[in-house]
Amino acid sequence: MDQSGLIFPKTQKKKKKRMKHPKSLLHEKNGTCYLCMLLDGNYKKHLFIDEHHIFGGPNRKHSEETGMKVWLCLDHHTMGPLAVHNCPETMRLLHRIGQQEYERTHSRQQFIEIFGKSYL
Ligand SMILES: [Zn+2]
Ligand SMILES: [Zn+2]
Repeated sequence: MDQSGLIFPKTQKKKKKRMKHPKSLLHEKNGTCYLCMLLDGNYKKHLFIDEHHIFGGPNRKHSEETGMKVWLCLDHHTMGPLAVHNCPETMRLLHRIGQQEYERTHSRQQFIEIFGKSYL
């Protein structure tokens, strides 16, 4: 049967709520490691960098939606003694910097509403 003359109604798909993926508020993705720059003043570009969400666990998706992420070399992400996932001090440092950066354009109240507490 020739259906070429038939008009099919466009199927109405349920609109999915899209997750926002804004750019990082702290760091441009260009091969540099945020912690190499911050701790060592080293702006070298790495062959491999990992995306790191500053507030992890249940807040990971909030980090994604608010641009709370940085890129790290493997040493500073998971491998070295100062890596953010090995060293609570480094983790705290990034928490503080992330919140400070967020509060340049938002209130503390807004931060706490999203992330549950203040790190400052
Ligand atoms: Zn690094
Ligand atoms: Zn990470």
